[in-house]
Amino acid sequence: MRVLMLGGTTEASALARALVGDVRFDVTVSLAGRTRAPVLPVLPSRIGGFGGIAGLVDYLRRERIEAVLDATHPFAAQMTRHAVVAAEITGIPLLRVDRPAWVVGPGDHWIEVGDMPAAARALGDVPRRVLLTIGQTELAPFCLASWHRYVIRSVDAPQPELVPAQAEVLTARGPFDVAFETALLLGYSIEMLVTKNSGGSATVAKLTAARALGLPVVMIRRPPSQKIAAVRDVAAALEWLAHQAALMPRGV
Ligand code: NAP
Repeated sequence: MRVLMLGGTTEASALARALVGDVRFDVTVSLAGRTRAPVLPVLPSRIGGFGGIAGLVDYLRRERIEAVLDATHPFAAQMTRHAVVAAEITGIPLLRVDRPAWVVGPGDHWIEVGDMPAAARALGDVPRRVLLTIGQTELAPFCLASWHRYVIRSVDAPQPELVPAQAEVLTARGPFDVAFETALLLGYSIEMLVTKNSGGSATVAKLTAARALGLPVVMIRRPPSQKIAAVRDVAAALEWLAHQAALMPRGV
């Protein structure tokens, strides 16, 4: 069965590892190409956009794809939307792998906001030392809130013109543990943290560290989910794939 997996997450990498050598599936993993040195999956891969919905539909037909797994990042809403429409047009089964969002707990001090400008506003008028773990492309609202001092942690360094005036850039790729995150927050005297609600375990340690230190966290809510079949973890996605393979007509 020919499968397209839209990847770029730890779940997609885990799925790829689980599917290596499984003769039922011929899987291609697609990456957006957002990072300069991506961790390439252990399965055949392609990198870069398809060219919108029309390009994705062409790709699915040309490559005779029979099932699509959307294991993209929870904030990659456009890719998911395109996959939904392309699946409707082609009739190809689609499953979303959607890791659970983080949930506020006892001892947390979260300020939940809907987007990046609101996150910058939530930092307030008093100058603070702020850790930004939001990637490298959505820094513009923080350039406008230039009275804060920022530490920006991202996989790749942002373009210099996107970096706020008072900022230090740290490049690092998770996973991170609590001791590491605590040392980072203390070492830079961080007073507030800004993050997307990505969910998952690879980058959750910063929230544990912030809770223990009593630091407020500006948490950017996820974009609304699409109304499509979805599972929460790799095991359920593998079950779905096995079910799709079982439904395929057998050759004679
Ligand atoms: P997006 O806004 O949903 O996608 C924008 C375009 O990028 C898509 O329309 C598509 O281009 C292309 N694209 C995205 N994922 C793709 C994939 N797996 N394979 C091929 N093309 C893909 O997503 P984004 O721009 O990548 O990121 C949006 C948000 O998600 C940001 O907040 C970012 O920090 C976060 N995020 C994304 C990733 C990732 O791997 N994509 C990882 C971590 C965080 P075409 O229309 O040309 O097909």
